[in-house]
Amino acid sequence: MARVPLMAGNWKMHGTRAEARQLAGALARSIGAVTDREVLIAPPFTALDAAREAIAGTRILLGAQNVHGEDRGAYSGEISAQMLVEAGCTHVIIGHSERRQYYGETDAGVNARLRGALATTLIPIVCVGETLAEREAGSTLQVIERQVHDGIAGIDPAHHPRFVLAYEPVWAIGTGRTATPEQAQEVHLAVRKRIAELAGPAVADGVRILYGGSVKPDNIDALMAQPDIDGALVGGASLDAVAFARIVQFQESRQ
Ligand code: PEP
Repeated sequence: MARVPLMAGNWKMHGTRAEARQLAGALARSIGAVTDREVLIAPPFTALDAAREAIAGTRILLGAQNVHGEDRGAYSGEISAQMLVEAGCTHVIIGHSERRQYYGETDAGVNARLRGALATTLIPIVCVGETLAEREAGSTLQVIERQVHDGIAGIDPAHHPRFVLAYEPVWAIGTGRTATPEQAQEVHLAVRKRIAELAGPAVADGVRILYGGSVKPDNIDALMAQPDIDGALVGGASLDAVAFARIVQFQESRQ
């Protein structure tokens, strides 16, 4: 099955409203009309509407960086899926390694947030990834398979075709160290096989698995040439309009 590439920029905690307007506006002009791949930006919550205005009328999609599992309640500092839909989001990133590392997010928490997103029209991007210690201990695939299994456990199979996964080795995020295309491909294939066991081969064939971890203009082509890499989740380089546009316009060489 031909999977449409999804190129996503995670702005993290960067961007005042004015900066967001400027960056999203620059992207709207350079890559706003791209049709053979999907482009997504995920600004901070406070800049969502500024970015939304700047990309209005283009094909660029809007996403958020986190979501709570409940639709309302006494959860100070959290935001619900419906609130994100109302803000113009079509996607949401869930379980980013920074959330896991700094805010104690667990696979069970990821599962709850995923359920919250799936109760609305949001398309969740569920992140998984091993730490350097886990890779060095030889437990990469075990860790990833657990994160995938526990992350999507008990989700209504009707929702399976809707979500996107992102493999982001923790040791490659923001470090300038990228997984080699072969290292990434090995994990992407394992994730797809796990999805086939959990949700069936048709879902596995259709699910998009993004790679994240120091994606840059000079490594995107080789990563995207791998058969099971269906897009990128880009942190640092997504804050540079020229670099992100180049990443989005990677050279397609996959058969
Ligand atoms: C990320 O935040 O998801 C990420 C991959 O960051 P960077 O591209 O900066 O490594």
